Amino acid sequence: MTGDHTDSAERSIFERLGVPEVINAAGTKTRVGGTRLRPEAAEAMQEASDGFVRISDLQAEASKRIAESTGADAGYITTGASSALTLAAAACLAGDDLSIMNRLPHTEGIPNEIVMARSHRTGYDHAFRLAGANIVDVGTFDRDLGSGSTNLKRWELDDAIGEDTAAVGYVATSRSEPPLETLVDVAHTNGVPVIVDAAAELPPKSNLSRFIEQEADLVAFSGGKAIQGPQATGILAGRQELIRSVAFQQLDMDIIEELWEPPEELFGDATIDGVPRHGIGRGMKVGREELVGIITAFEQFVEENDQKTFDEWDERARQMADRLQDEEGLHVSISGTEDDAVTNVEIQVDSTVTGFENLELVRHLQQHDPQVYVGFTDAPDSPILLNPMCLTDDEAGQVTDILAGMVTEA
Ligand SMILES: *Cc1c(COP(=O)(O)O)cnc(C)c1O
Repeated sequence: MTGDHTDSAERSIFERLGVPEVINAAGTKTRVGGTRLRPEAAEAMQEASDGFVRISDLQAEASKRIAESTGADAGYITTGASSALTLAAAACLAGDDLSIMNRLPHTEGIPNEIVMARSHRTGYDHAFRLAGANIVDVGTFDRDLGSGSTNLKRWELDDAIGEDTAAVGYVATSRSEPPLETLVDVAHTNGVPVIVDAAAELPPKSNLSRFIEQEADLVAFSGGKAIQGPQATGILAGRQELIRSVAFQQLDMDIIEELWEPPEELFGDATIDGVPRHGIGRGMKVGREELVGIITAFEQFVEENDQKTFDEWDERARQMADRLQDEEGLHVSISGTEDDAVTNVEIQVDSTVTGFENLELVRHLQQHDPQVYVGFTDAPDSPILLNPMCLTDDEAGQVTDILAGMVTEA
């Protein structure tokens, strides 16, 4: 990958641009490129780029396929799960009201609160606020105290939902509490929809329909993680009238009213008073290339055998662990929790041998040529993680060679 290349055809696009190349052992992290696009999706994108189509027709086709695979009424392609959350919030705020659509993100005088369990707050919930919503968080982090108390009581959520509530938000992970069914029950009893952030919850494929079966109203997935679609895509699945509101607020609306023929699959028999202005989602546009790319990738993802994918990741992780097992200065293990879809290699640097800690090794890897990105958080005792999802077998070998070299030199 590095070294002198005389033949420019051998050099990667990043080398030709003079931009340092990265080996991604961090998993589907947006800041280092997110995912490896499926070749079939890349081909579809290339082909679509040389022709024209009505974007709303492609969205309607995507909607049909998302509905089939998730069990939801309808679906929509967005520029990532994050923008799916913004559009979901916008739909819950505005519904079919053209005047509210036009006003967002300003929400004076309308219900504008999204209620969330405090333990579900993440950096990604800025996406809700982008549409104009205020997040009201309730509950505690008592679970972390080991006190036996839960983070959110049913009555507490019920109490927090009121006349200013536009939606209830939920981040789906294997550790999320309360159960989504409980949250949905309380929200729906109060007449309020539920938005689920399930960005990274695929695979297993069963999660495509799981949250819809649990009666979530809108569910967001990343297209640029395990689906391996274009990195800047996302999927929103949910109720027809909410997806319709998303479409109204996201599609380009430079349209002569007499000539407007919105596709029925997306808009159903909606009656609205004219053509909306460009909505809050207009800046999050999805081109025909991304649309055919994610449609193609999604089709393959849905047809694939989950177990095969898990086994492939597991195998790659175990090979990396085997290669590093005997390095003096490293404690190497395989991540063990059954909740994790992907097997990671866990590494602890033994600083008594190497003279440096985990953090320094991570920094050295990032500064290497090619740069190597690994999973790491700054929590105390947090291991270095090698995530196999975005690696080829070749790259996995390079990562372990580079890592072993650094420890041996130390
Ligand atoms: C990755 C992620 C997102 C953002 O998804 P994008 O497709 O990158 O916009 C949102 N929420 C969670 C929990 C995520 O893991």
